[in-house]
Amino acid sequence: MPLFSSRRPFAYASLLALTLSASQSLLAQTSFLTLPGEYALELDADSSQWLSVGENTGIRVINSAGDSTSSWSRNAEFLDSRYIPTSSGTQQIFASFDSSQNRVLLYSLDSEQQFQQDLVSSPVDFPVEGLCLHLDGAQRLHLFLLSELFEAHQYLLRPVSGEQWQMLPVRTLPTGPDSEYCAVDDLSATLFVSESSQTLWAYPTDPEAEVERTLIDAAAPFGNLGDGPLGLATAHGHLYALSIDGPTVHQYAKRDGQFRYLMQHHHSLATANMQSAQSLTLSDTGEAQTLSLYDEEHRRFTLLKVPTPESIAAPESLAEVAPIVETSPMPQRGDAADDPALWIHPSTPRQSLIVGTNKRQGLFVYDLEGNELQRLDTGRLNNVDIRYGVSWQGRTVDVAVASNRDLNTLSMFAIDRETRQLTLVADIPTTLQNIYGMCLYQDATKGLYAFANDEDGSFLQLALDMSSSTWTGSVVRRFSVASQPEGCVANDSTGQLFLGEEDVGIWTLSAAANAPTNLQAVAKIGGVLHDDIEGLALYEGANSTLLIASSQGNNSYVVMDSIAPYPVLASFRIGMNLDPGLMIDGASETDGLEVSSANLGGAYSAGLLIVQDGRNVLPEQAQNFKVVPWRDVQSLFPILRP
Ligand code: CA
Ligand code: CA
Ligand code: CA
Ligand code: CA
Ligand code: CA
Repeated sequence: MPLFSSRRPFAYASLLALTLSASQSLLAQTSFLTLPGEYALELDADSSQWLSVGENTGIRVINSAGDSTSSWSRNAEFLDSRYIPTSSGTQQIFASFDSSQNRVLLYSLDSEQQFQQDLVSSPVDFPVEGLCLHLDGAQRLHLFLLSELFEAHQYLLRPVSGEQWQMLPVRTLPTGPDSEYCAVDDLSATLFVSESSQTLWAYPTDPEAEVERTLIDAAAPFGNLGDGPLGLATAHGHLYALSIDGPTVHQYAKRDGQFRYLMQHHHSLATANMQSAQSLTLSDTGEAQTLSLYDEEHRRFTLLKVPTPESIAAPESLAEVAPIVETSPMPQRGDAADDPALWIHPSTPRQSLIVGTNKRQGLFVYDLEGNELQRLDTGRLNNVDIRYGVSWQGRTVDVAVASNRDLNTLSMFAIDRETRQLTLVADIPTTLQNIYGMCLYQDATKGLYAFANDEDGSFLQLALDMSSSTWTGSVVRRFSVASQPEGCVANDSTGQLFLGEEDVGIWTLSAAANAPTNLQAVAKIGGVLHDDIEGLALYEGANSTLLIASSQGNNSYVVMDSIAPYPVLASFRIGMNLDPGLMIDGASETDGLEVSSANLGGAYSAGLLIVQDGRNVLPEQAQNFKVVPWRDVQSLFPILRP
């Protein structure tokens, strides 16, 4: 019996014609293939070798004569593959799942076509219903496992010494019941999941992306998917979804930012007479793509050759820097960490402190390695700022001030230079109904001022008096913006205040208590700046002072000159650091941030950037702060070098 029997030797139509004939049938080539197993992948363009995977047949390479040329005897199901970069080019790597032992299997073929067992994971502690791979823009390999318990588990697969691979839990995504099939489009970084044979969903794969999903299509009568989606496959920015009516393969591609229905491959499969197809595996050998559908009834595969579509252009991505430290996670899950400040030790820079607010609990103090040193349960503190050199109880202390949302006060802390301990000294009452952001300003005569704002847009400037043992404050100026503000920062040398109006942009005015209160625009939302605007900080370089803003809406950071017309000099993201011993995720949805040009030694010779991270993953934990050496930002953007 011949291995292949070609049923419909049609020529391929051009992609242009195909996209124009959307939702019409495709003149694709259908043939049948008898192989062991339930998953099959073509290994070369002339169909002379196939990889087959089956629960009772194991993992095998089968040649055109139907002989098994190498095998790995494992009860395996599911099959996905990617081409990963190696020192000598690229290598195809495969993933399957050993359902009898609940282990992930990662494998490749050497030059003699023998199996290399790259990873046999420790047993996974949930029932697995599906598996798919993803190669991200930085060429890192991700794995998604669909759990029967309504979750997709995301892992990073990381090559370690020699042949060994490591599987690092990244995060979990909520799915519906009976989510059995998945596939990832690497170009758009989208995970597709078919759920309950009813709906087809898309999730962003970036570990720093918001956990959300978009409906792509549904079974009739709500969508195009007839009896509903089963197996999924992707290539070159296109998605293929199988539905059993026919059966039919539906093709989608991203147009104008959304995955849209392009066409269906129906008539070519109708003759295949297969009512039991479920899984879909795509082989991409460069010249053509073959979709293989396992036909349980006839115990064979139906092969559908589809033309390789023109690749969709990959979206432009922002440059990334990586954190080298993350602080201990907050005690509470959900939104808790908000705004950091840096206290610089007067003589030993490495003894400096990161002081961060927990907007459900109080103030947290960390060393530069991120270890928690002190916790002050002083109420819901939102923003914090620090200044130096105040005489108190016969000695010189430094001062941290935070906006307290429980009391509508400014909570003032003394920082002991010897013990590095913070002590709550005073709560300065304000007339604000909903105190929100705050920052400090120390003028040339060493007078200390606080700016505090309210959710309603009003700002108070208070003069802080620390001349007696009881610290007090009095309002010296008021002004307002039209909508919700939060972050602000003052330049002590120039007497200039910068403030963010979350949905509008960044404004500036003089920080002097007697100056007029007219606001000048620094930057409006748009371009590189995505709302909300929250964290603002100043980097005092040798030649210029830079303004850094958290562009929360696209998980990035924008660097501007602090002098009009405030040109944008850099825009970047904070990505993950997978260096051995670090394993730190990137930062996203950043609220507050702090930057300093102080030489804190080592990696921090040009100072550092501290940001709140809205989503602490790798593994999933409560929120924290991430620390990035500023020299790494400078090496990415030569314009920022002194
Ligand atoms: Ca937040
Ligand atoms: Ca701050
Ligand atoms: Ca993160
Ligand atoms: Ca905030
Ligand atoms: Ca983390």
